[in-house]
Amino acid sequence: MSHTSSSVPVSVAIIGSGPAGYTAAIYATRAGLDVILYEGAQPGGQLTTTTDVENYPGYPEGVLGSQMMADFRRQAVRFGTTIQNATVVAVNFSVYPFQITTDTGVTTQAKTVIIATGASAKWLGLASEKRLYGRGVSACATCDGFFFRGQEVAVVGGGDTAAEEAQHLAKLCKKVYLLVRGEKMRACHRMQQRILHTPNISVFFNTEVEEILGEEAVVGVRLLDKKAHKNYELPLQGFFVAIGHQPNTGLFTPYLKLDATGYIETIPGSTKTNIPGVFAAGDVQDSIYRQAITAAGTGCMAALDAEKFLAEQV
Ligand code: NDP
Repeated sequence: MSHTSSSVPVSVAIIGSGPAGYTAAIYATRAGLDVILYEGAQPGGQLTTTTDVENYPGYPEGVLGSQMMADFRRQAVRFGTTIQNATVVAVNFSVYPFQITTDTGVTTQAKTVIIATGASAKWLGLASEKRLYGRGVSACATCDGFFFRGQEVAVVGGGDTAAEEAQHLAKLCKKVYLLVRGEKMRACHRMQQRILHTPNISVFFNTEVEEILGEEAVVGVRLLDKKAHKNYELPLQGFFVAIGHQPNTGLFTPYLKLDATGYIETIPGSTKTNIPGVFAAGDVQDSIYRQAITAAGTGCMAALDAEKFLAEQV
C-alpha cells in the first residue's frame, strides 16, 4: 500500500543518479531549492560499470567510473540533496504537484521533475559477454577504444552506432572486424561508404557471434557464417557490442512525447518536455552523443530550467 511522505511538495525531484542527475542536483541545491534524488536500481548509472574514464575534463590522470560517480554524489550531498536509495516505480504527471511513487511504497509530491534515467546498452545475451565485460568486452568505443591501440578488435552491429564505433576504433586499432548478422547494414549510405573505404575495417555479413573466447581477457570470438553454415574462430583482443541502446522511459510513456527511436523529446535548446515542469536530461533524451560530459551539461540545463519554471509560478 502506498502512503504519501509529506503534504509539502518538494521543489525538485530528480529520477536517476548518473552524471545528469547528480549535476542537476548540484545546480538546483546551490540555487537554494530543496531536492530529492532517487538513485534507482543502479546507483551511479552506466559509468559504474566501466573501468577508467579518461575523457572527462578535470581528471588528468583518468578516474574509475565508480569513483567519479562517488565524487559526483558527494558533491550533490554537500549542498543538501536528499538522496533516496529507492527506485521510482510510478509517476503521475496528470496531477499537479506531480506524484512520484517508489518501490518502498512512498508517494512524494514534486513541483518539478527532472528525468535522468539514462539508457541501457543492449547486449547479445551470451554468458561469455557478461563474464568478460570490462576485460575486453565493452559497449562504448569512445570510452574504451584507447585501451586497444594497435590491437585487433571486433564490433558487432550494423547500424549507425556500430559504423561510428568501427570508424573510431579504426583510427586506434590495427584491425577492426565489423560483424553484421544480416545481408546488409542498416547504417546510412554515407556511413556504409566510409566503412567500406577504410582499409583496416573488414565487414563480415551473415555473421553471428556464438561465443567470446578467453578466461581472464578476450582472446577471440567464435563466429558462425550463416551462409556457409561454418563455424570459425577469429583471434582479437577487444569486442564492442553496438546493437543499440534502450532509453529507460517505460514509466513515462503515458505522459511524455518520445521520438521515433524511443528517446524523450525535448524542446530544442532546452530540457523541457511536453509537460511544463517536467524536464529530461542525459542519455534518456540523447541518442547521439551519450557521453558523461554531455549528460552533465544537460543536467545543469535541467536544473536551470526547473529553477526558472518555479520562479515563474510565484
Ligand atoms: P539500430 O537499431 O539502428 O541498429 C542496431 C543494429 O544492431 C542493426 O544492424 C541490427 O541488425 C543489429 N542488431 C540488433 N540486435 C542484434 C543482435 N542480437 N545480434 C547482432 N546484431 C544485432 O541502433 P543504433 O544504435 O545503431 O542507432 C539507433 C538510432 O540512432 C538510429 O536511428 C541511428 O540512425 C541513430 N544514430 C545516429 C547517429 C548519427 O546520426 N551520427 C549515430 C548513432 C546512431 P538488423 O539490421 O539485422 O536488425
